[in-house]
Amino acid sequence: MKFSTLFTLISTSLLLTACSTQEVANNKTEKLPKNIIYMIGDGMSMAHLTAYRHYANSSEQHIGLGNKVVPQTIFDEYFVGVASTLPDDDTLVTDSASSATALASGEKTYNGAIGLDNDKSNLTSILEHAKFKGMLTGTISTSQVTHATPASFLAHNESRHNQNEIADAIFDQHINYKVKADLMLGGGTDYFIREDRNLVKEFKQIGFNYFSELSQLSDMDQLPVLGLFAPKGLPYAIDSQDNPNRLLAMTKPALSLLNKNNPNGFFLMIEGSQIDWCSHSNDIACAMQEMEDFAQTLSAVIEFAKKDGNTLVVLTADHGTGGLSVGANKQYKWLPNVIHKVKASAGELVKSIFASKDIAKTWLDSTGFELTSEQLTSVKELKAQDKSKELYAKIMKFINDQSFTGWTTTGHVGDDVAVIAYGPQSNKFVGAQDNTDLAKKLLSYIKTK
Ligand SMILES: [Zn+2]
Repeated sequence: MKFSTLFTLISTSLLLTACSTQEVANNKTEKLPKNIIYMIGDGMSMAHLTAYRHYANSSEQHIGLGNKVVPQTIFDEYFVGVASTLPDDDTLVTDSASSATALASGEKTYNGAIGLDNDKSNLTSILEHAKFKGMLTGTISTSQVTHATPASFLAHNESRHNQNEIADAIFDQHINYKVKADLMLGGGTDYFIREDRNLVKEFKQIGFNYFSELSQLSDMDQLPVLGLFAPKGLPYAIDSQDNPNRLLAMTKPALSLLNKNNPNGFFLMIEGSQIDWCSHSNDIACAMQEMEDFAQTLSAVIEFAKKDGNTLVVLTADHGTGGLSVGANKQYKWLPNVIHKVKASAGELVKSIFASKDIAKTWLDSTGFELTSEQLTSVKELKAQDKSKELYAKIMKFINDQSFTGWTTTGHVGDDVAVIAYGPQSNKFVGAQDNTDLAKKLLSYIKTK
């Protein structure tokens, strides 16, 4: 461990001891959690939650019949508050690195920073504190392990783009002479297996069990574990028809493994990474399928926490992405049934149009609605001109217009995000707070161990 890391750990731990004494005094009647599961829906705005509620229940809605009740989702059931997400500059709109650092350490920083403050000093993450306290630790994401959110829990780097350096740091930076995480599942072989260094080999040499296929996860019976299931991020849920709920597939066996013969408890970060990626593309069908995987993962996590009785679950988002709106184009309606019928992400739709001899039929088969003759002509023209980027934007517009889905940007937004919590101390997350408060509260529970 570098001296600066050690110093940060010690100084932060002194500060947190003071903070935790206060917390314990406030909470003396309520037990503290043994395990902490922190779930982050990357790019998941409040509108994503509303849209998902209608999407999940669209077959049960009786539009126009009066007294319509849309059943709650798992997110609604445990909703307790909201969090602001602004970064430590004058932009008010955060990127995933700055917000993940805030969620991981309780400190705000500049956009792009991985576990560093504005002066580029290391900020100790909750995961690092947990390891320091002898807890088992893990991250699960559908992005690569080196991507902004998991990276902010596992490493320190001045830029989120230095993913090779981040992969190196995940192996090289230690706490108590050990790698910081006992379990890492996600994508990222491109960054772990390189010409200059094979980190998978190095992880195996220090005793890590390595998995490269999601189907192997049932064989996962011993920690530590590294699972890398794609060169970068995993394929989109909507394009993974054999196993769309891959976050759930990673999470279920991970929970049993982390909980096995573990008196000290565990800290696990689970990221629904690609809600953000689909929303950057303004691809509503892609985003809703990611929300489905995230919702099912939350259900499994809550089920585990209910059975365990000593697990605190906190779920939030790092920011909203896309400026999603439920309704668009001055029309007072939103049609989730249209979205249900779309069978592929925009990227895959473009590929199938380029490969197709009958565009009208290919489109109808993949989306469930017909193109107008005007739309069909414009698609044919863009295909003939080999303009895949323009075609991508055009077909997203067709689906968004057809379902009355609105987007204001292909970037992030500064809206407050949801806070969802269950388990011991979950009442401390009620109300409006800043994203750094979530980390500070979680850290206070770890510091009392
Ligand atoms: Zn993003």
